[in-house]
Amino acid sequence: MLHKIKKIGVMTSGGDSPGMNAAIRSVVRACVFHNVECVGIYRGYEGMIEGDFVPMNARSVKGIINKGGTVLKSARSKEFRTYEGRKKAYDKLVEANIDAFVVIGGDGSFTGAMIFSQEFDIPVMGIPGTIDNDIVGTTHTLGYDTALNTVVEAIDKIRDTASSHNRLFFVEVMGRDVGHIALNVGVGAGAEEILIPEEDLGLDRLLESLRRSKQSGKSSSIVVVAEGDKIGKNVFELKDYVEENMTEYEVRVSVLGHMQRGGSPSCFDRVLASRMGVKAVESLINGTSNCMVGLKNDVMALTPFDQAVKGKSKINMELLRVSDIMTI
Ligand code: ATP
Repeated sequence: MLHKIKKIGVMTSGGDSPGMNAAIRSVVRACVFHNVECVGIYRGYEGMIEGDFVPMNARSVKGIINKGGTVLKSARSKEFRTYEGRKKAYDKLVEANIDAFVVIGGDGSFTGAMIFSQEFDIPVMGIPGTIDNDIVGTTHTLGYDTALNTVVEAIDKIRDTASSHNRLFFVEVMGRDVGHIALNVGVGAGAEEILIPEEDLGLDRLLESLRRSKQSGKSSSIVVVAEGDKIGKNVFELKDYVEENMTEYEVRVSVLGHMQRGGSPSCFDRVLASRMGVKAVESLINGTSNCMVGLKNDVMALTPFDQAVKGKSKINMELLRVSDIMTI
């Protein structure tokens, strides 16, 4: 059934990422442009269930394009995983005359949106906001580019210490299921080796590579390790292993953690967020639902939720080869 859209809700859900505020701003202003009312939904599905809504206008989103995090707050809601929870959320939307919504979040948030939309026939569009870039249907998720820049900057600083003391650093970066961040920052920061979930490098190859590096006269070495790498040891165990097998190395570990998710969004993420927000609102107005907005070949593209959440985004294998050549 084609809904005439008069009021659109916008929310952020799951883990926050830089660019979410820029996307909220874009959704709100695109609504104003098209004479559609806009309502901010606080704290993701949790706030939806409680009816934690606030009317938004073009000025409510001033001064946020450059801010990290999300002004609408984010949450994970157990209750929304139940039919009863989703029914409560639907009743609150009906009570507030919200007849469609845009969810900015990751694949979990889209799975929830898909189930909800099917149960209650409410139009919904998704904007992929996660630093991991682990969603199919877009070459870039919101926050990914900013995270790459944040991590490269951090590794550059670690490199200063590493080279002053002739040390080897294992730097752990985010990426439980996919190695996009590790692979790109590894190449961008000139890492000796990059350990990612998609490929088991093997401990022998790691040692061999570090030996080669030492012999070639390098004064410091950085190994970038994605959280979910498959080598079978965590970064601290890796440190011990390398120190046991290569006494010539003094090894340090740096786990970058949540600082990777924060900070002011890059220009790329701000522009991407602005484009995605407009596309999401205009798609809802034109009668499209249950899709995620993405970037493909520098054009805004829609991917149905079921494909976006089921697929597994693939790393660029060419980058692994480039990394090998660079560390010769
Ligand atoms: P991140 O990439 O940061 O993990 P995400 O959107 O994948 O972001 P999740 O915690 O997986 O984060 O999902 C956010 C919320 O979406 C959950 O707290 C829950 O309320 C809702 N959700 C996730 N999966 C489902 C599901 N199968 N059914 C209903 N709701 C769901």
